Amino acid sequence: MGGYVLKGRVIDGNGGKPIERGVVTVENGRISAVCRESEFRTDARLTEISMPNATIMPGFIDCHTHLTSIGMMPEKLFLRPKYDMLLEAVGDAKKLLEAGFTSAREMCEFGPCLKRAIAKGNISGPKLFVSSRLLSSTSGHGDTCSLIPLEYVQEHNTIAYLVDGVDECLKGARLMFREGADFIKSCSTGGIMSYGDEPDTSEFSLEELKAMVEEAERHNTYVATHSQGTKGILKALQAGVKSIEHGIFLDEKCVELMVKNDVTYDPTVSILRLILANPDEVPQYAYRKGCLAVERHVESVKMAREAGIRIVLGTDFLGGDSETTAFGKQGMEFVSLVEAGLTPMEAIVAATKNGAHLIKKSLETGTLEEGKAADIVLVEGDPLRDISILADATNVRLVMQDGVIKKNTIMSKTC
Ligand SMILES: [Zn+2]
Repeated sequence: MGGYVLKGRVIDGNGGKPIERGVVTVENGRISAVCRESEFRTDARLTEISMPNATIMPGFIDCHTHLTSIGMMPEKLFLRPKYDMLLEAVGDAKKLLEAGFTSAREMCEFGPCLKRAIAKGNISGPKLFVSSRLLSSTSGHGDTCSLIPLEYVQEHNTIAYLVDGVDECLKGARLMFREGADFIKSCSTGGIMSYGDEPDTSEFSLEELKAMVEEAERHNTYVATHSQGTKGILKALQAGVKSIEHGIFLDEKCVELMVKNDVTYDPTVSILRLILANPDEVPQYAYRKGCLAVERHVESVKMAREAGIRIVLGTDFLGGDSETTAFGKQGMEFVSLVEAGLTPMEAIVAATKNGAHLIKKSLETGTLEEGKAADIVLVEGDPLRDISILADATNVRLVMQDGVIKKNTIMSKTC
């Protein structure tokens, strides 16, 4: 494998001051040095990659994806052949990588097989940390279309698997581990996109959630919960979950418990804004619920930030025909995080170092440091001055994953 020297402004993902004229070298798939250009000694073995106004950053991590091609109309989940959906997901994985996301935390039935295919190099996509299907109660958030017969839902739902009672929760978690799960995704409340419940509906009992948490801990991993309403967030925290997804209606008690238990917060603001901006592309009930949630969600991000809770970048995008949450547009969430009060540097740390913590890969990726995997993006412009450049994937000019160039729209030369 050839080596590279990338030159430009270096933001290493740790949150400190950038190196304005910096260098990152890559050898054998790993980062071999991060330094000032003045400290770098030209090495003829390395291919130089540089361009004016370049910023070099760690590869991004989307901590909440659903590579299942269902778009924003949940009933579509049941109307299309699974193979078609899987092949679309293959294309979406590539788009996500080319938008700069070299890793992702993925939640649907296709996750484990996509993860294996990407790891083998058969397809291109982010390195995946997967839950397989999320566990939901019957009539709960994952039972998205409760007008469709239950047996059919259980068979064809690529996002959720329905379980009820402590025994089934345990069995469900073990089934997901059998399918290849790296962590367990569950739901402790209703949601925006589900037909039969509300964000403040509380779902699963404390005992059911605890059964999943204990099983995850036996597998040396954790439970993440879709949790929107306050009551259900609190119950999930009491059960011992390690990441709160969405967390729309956080209150002081939630924040206090998250700090105490070192729980990660994965807000998903952009998708709410997209639902409100595209009422014709979503079910009416989702639009109604989205209107009630969006401003409160932004408030929750502010509360979490002030309390020093670890925030990650997650989008909840679902792919499919809908342009609304199309893969490749995930960078929008950087802008949403900054609008919610994070500094541009904090949003970048959320999408890199903090994401790596949540996918349990802190030693491997998430920051530009000697010895780590060369998961690197080079963007045109300075995202610390204008975070919106990260919202447009065309500004991501180079994507490198494990030292292999996966996208390059700049010229390179040997130095
Ligand atoms: Zn989701």
